Amino acid sequence: MSDLDPVAGIKTDSAHSQPLAQRFDCILFDLDGVLYRGSQAIKGASKTIKTLGSLNIGRSFITNNASKTPAQVAAHLRELGMDAAPIDVATSPQAAVQVLEDFVAQGRASARARVYVVGGEGIEWALHDGGFESTRDPEGCQVVMQGFGPLVTWSELAEAAYLVANGALWIATNLDSTFPTDKGIAPGNGSLVNAVAAAAGRGPDGVGGKPAPALLEFALEQSGAHYPLMVGDRYDTDIAGAIAVGIPNLLVLSGVCGPQEVWTSDLRSDYLAEDVTALIETYPDIDLHGDSATCEGAIATLNRADRSANVSGGSMINGLRALEALKWQLLAEGFAGSARGSDIATLVRVEWPDSGLLEGKER
Ligand SMILES: [Mg+2]
Repeated sequence: MSDLDPVAGIKTDSAHSQPLAQRFDCILFDLDGVLYRGSQAIKGASKTIKTLGSLNIGRSFITNNASKTPAQVAAHLRELGMDAAPIDVATSPQAAVQVLEDFVAQGRASARARVYVVGGEGIEWALHDGGFESTRDPEGCQVVMQGFGPLVTWSELAEAAYLVANGALWIATNLDSTFPTDKGIAPGNGSLVNAVAAAAGRGPDGVGGKPAPALLEFALEQSGAHYPLMVGDRYDTDIAGAIAVGIPNLLVLSGVCGPQEVWTSDLRSDYLAEDVTALIETYPDIDLHGDSATCEGAIATLNRADRSANVSGGSMINGLRALEALKWQLLAEGFAGSARGSDIATLVRVEWPDSGLLEGKER
């Protein structure tokens, strides 16, 4: 195995002619918007997973969705043509149980505590797997674990609020405020956690899912990865989570983020791609020369006089990669008093032949 690059945390022996994935020994995948959208596999995802297997690169499938067990998540991936076993899956309830174990180690909870469950079957499964007693009866519970479940009721939220107000330890599987469904955007677990917090007068004591570090730490330990890459479609959970645990990351545009979200983000992803098939292709070099950045025929050039950036040539994704390189260089020099990535997006007007590209799609 090659040495760890102390700066990037990636293999140093990766020739640029190799597929991007070969710089790593395990790829951590967010699921929705990365490998599938609801019941549909994203184009090329199945082929990518298969190729990673033949290259002997590990796969870890990561989800903040608390309603399903690892076996159910793996079964859904297999239905979509992706080879996945339950042991390759890491869910937010599993991370929440790790958080509970930490509280037990600190003496803030008993290993024999009764845990009141609000949410789906995935939470009960993870608690049982971790040796904890789960129940749907709030009587005498010292711990509340709250996650998404399509059948969560007002009564359960009320019982959780009573317990929390009376001093129970409260762990949320995740804090995603929204939950995309086939019909549109629905309230996610974070919105229901907020409902309990409003009644109880305080927030949860611990959180399992991204961007909190517990879920990625659990996945890293489970997979045994030494040179991991996190792949996700959201800055606020996937990229922020990868940054929180210090691992390289790839943002794909097959989910909630488009070029506009990339350009206006305060966070920087290490790699950018249209979708996961980029993992099994070579990743192009991006060259910065003064106020120009180039990437495989695409060029982004800053005009300081009128604070504009012109993008031309090459493909959309390579134009965006070049523009990003320019953006972060401008931030590093504190261009026009900028302090955050989004400041650059406010200060610099982008001229792109396809003007529709920088219209937002994040929700
Ligand atoms: Mg996602």
